Amino acid sequence: MNYCSQCGAEVGVRVPEGDNRPRHICGACGTIHYQNPKVVVGCIPEWEDQILLCRRAIEPRYGLWTLPAGFMERGETTHDGAARETLEEAHARVEVLDLYTLFSLPHIDQVYMLFRSRLLDLGFGPGAESLEVRLFDEAEVPWREIAFPVVKETLKIYFADRRTGRFPLRLGDIVRAPDDPRRYRIRVHGGGPAGWVPVPGS
Ligand SMILES: [Zn+2]
Repeated sequence: MNYCSQCGAEVGVRVPEGDNRPRHICGACGTIHYQNPKVVVGCIPEWEDQILLCRRAIEPRYGLWTLPAGFMERGETTHDGAARETLEEAHARVEVLDLYTLFSLPHIDQVYMLFRSRLLDLGFGPGAESLEVRLFDEAEVPWREIAFPVVKETLKIYFADRRTGRFPLRLGDIVRAPDDPRRYRIRVHGGGPAGWVPVPGS
């Protein structure tokens, strides 16, 4: 950020009085421009034993598979956002069910909230951001071509939980390795030990 969105003057970076971290502050009007993480909402659309994935038509990770998900818009709920993203990316109508995974991704300042959902019909197809949309059995999931670690981890624990028939809320963190941007540490709270894993598709 270089200029103030309130008055157009230049902004500087300093710690405001009473705060403990640097912020963008306008030198003219004094507005403090706080920057905070964004929420990404999406669905795990289910149809019988299959789940729906989208192949990305946009960067990053063009051509790789992901769950329908995207940034929440102002004025909507998490459920509404998850349903909207699924309609936009997969032209799929869903009943959004329970929240299933909630991951913090501090290296990109995002929080992911992925909901189980029930496909209402099979009239889906690729939206503008997708090359292809299709249903997958567990055995067909293209594990080496999943676009994002958060989606790959969600799918791994989803299929593991499905064997027990229970889908408790799973909380986790995905943290980029400080010395290697191509590796992440994935930790699901209450899950097994965390280890560094390579970025899918790299
Ligand atoms: Zn200003």
